[in-house]
Amino acid sequence: MHESSLVEFTLNAVEDKAASMNIKKVTLIHLTCGKMRGAIPQLMNEAFRLLTPARPMFHGAVLEMEETPIIAKCRACNSQHEIEEFHDITCPACGGKEYDIISGEELRIDYFEGE
Ligand SMILES: [Zn+2]
Repeated sequence: MHESSLVEFTLNAVEDKAASMNIKKVTLIHLTCGKMRGAIPQLMNEAFRLLTPARPMFHGAVLEMEETPIIAKCRACNSQHEIEEFHDITCPACGGKEYDIISGEELRIDYFEGE
């Protein structure tokens, strides 16, 4: 499952950070995940539930995930638009086919809480 590796990655990163801050128990993790990552929030939570029992630091912790849309910027006319499907993108303003992705690829731990 793709989501488990994203959750694993998140837990490792938070664990390192928490340890360096002398936090023994994490209660909440807030993630921002771009839609291009293809992570489904429900599956993320499921992976979180499956992976945390082996890690006492995260017992009882909650995972919050915010999805950011995929935004493409047209190279021809510079207009920006949100895209749903990642194939065959045509600029709605000028019909251009070349674009840069400016949002939607991120995976970021915004913050976490603990004690
Ligand atoms: Zn355009």
